[in-house]
Amino acid sequence: MLSRDQALARDAQDPLAHCRDEFVITDQELIYLDGNSLGRLTKRGADAVERATQREWGDHLVRSWHDWIGLPEQIGDDLAPLLGAGPGEVLVCDQTSVNLFKLASAVLTERGRKVVVADDSNFPSDRYVLAAVAKAAGGTMREMAVDPLAGPTVADLAKVLDASVGLVSLSLVSFKSGAIADLAAITALAHRHGALVLWDLSHAAGAIEFDLRGAGADLAIGCTYKYLNGGPGAPAFLFVRRELQNQLLSPIPGWFGHEDMFAFAGEYRPAAGIRRFSVGTPPILSLRAAQAGIAVTARVGMAPIRRKSVALTELLIARADAVLQPLGFTVATPRDAERRGSHVSLAHPEAYAITQAMIARKVVPDFRAPNLIRLGVAPLYTRFSEIWDAVEVIAEIARTRAHEPWLRAARTRVT
Ligand SMILES: *Cc1c(COP(=O)(O)O)cnc(C)c1O
Repeated sequence: MLSRDQALARDAQDPLAHCRDEFVITDQELIYLDGNSLGRLTKRGADAVERATQREWGDHLVRSWHDWIGLPEQIGDDLAPLLGAGPGEVLVCDQTSVNLFKLASAVLTERGRKVVVADDSNFPSDRYVLAAVAKAAGGTMREMAVDPLAGPTVADLAKVLDASVGLVSLSLVSFKSGAIADLAAITALAHRHGALVLWDLSHAAGAIEFDLRGAGADLAIGCTYKYLNGGPGAPAFLFVRRELQNQLLSPIPGWFGHEDMFAFAGEYRPAAGIRRFSVGTPPILSLRAAQAGIAVTARVGMAPIRRKSVALTELLIARADAVLQPLGFTVATPRDAERRGSHVSLAHPEAYAITQAMIARKVVPDFRAPNLIRLGVAPLYTRFSEIWDAVEVIAEIARTRAHEPWLRAARTRVT
């Protein structure tokens, strides 16, 4: 079994070690394993927000709109290669939940088929939105039962598809188990049954390699504030395959999606291309931070990031098996690296209290009810030695029952 010295040696040989310098890290002792929820602040992002505030807004005022107006599409083009999308296929705008609403509505209102398939392990917000969209279109949401550890599979989907299904919407990486779904095979199966697929890439973008165009994907949405380090509440993104763009209409026909917005025409005419999915004035300060976060990942590229992510999660699982399993923890993430995203979930009946004790010891994970401790690895800044040390801290808490005080405490509002 690897020793702590060997973990340190792997840090010393890590080809991505220098990427940590791109980030503002004020406390070198803090082991941050929640980049899957809120990525760290990039130095470029901090500078970009400062510049956007002082110079672009403060000095140039409304004249800055000449540069700002195209940002949602420009940043979409910066992001596209990380998703396997082409230029003009990605727009950075609104929130993930809002983009899900827009794209799901666009599909359902255009088509005779009114059933949406969602899976019962998906992020609840996605299911709330999909159920509401289906209802408004006069249809229903059909819930597909999936194994929570394995996530949605082709076999699960085959059981629920029929000629009434217009849209299937799934997460590429499960927010709980971290399982990766088969993008190409699920898309192909849905297509054979005449349905489109809308992928939620929130835990996939910046975390794993995938190829939307290669898989024939139709539609996707996702966050920029997780592995893409775009900042708290940073605008989300949406992808619409080029061939579909002009067949779909946004249910929110705002002026930013108009063919000629400054004509202030009496009636709405959708812009050609991806811009028709814009709604209103974009949040420029947040966009500047997101642009910087995406640029850091784009400069490195997904292949080395994924390689290090797999090595980090392999180490984490090996240490969890050796040290934590005897203490009552179970790895609740696929063991096959090909099927695993960039976080590892540990199941334990006292998971909430343990996460609080970890945070008190400067190891930051998150908790997902009812019993999961999620440990996210972000290869741009997570070190091998941090994984080693985090497992030791968790083991020490469990052995000494240091989490006892939180077993009786009320839960915090954010977990
Ligand atoms: C994080 C996440 C979201 C977040 O949606 P917001 O609208 O940005 O709050 C949505 N879906 C999934 C699968 C997520 O993991």
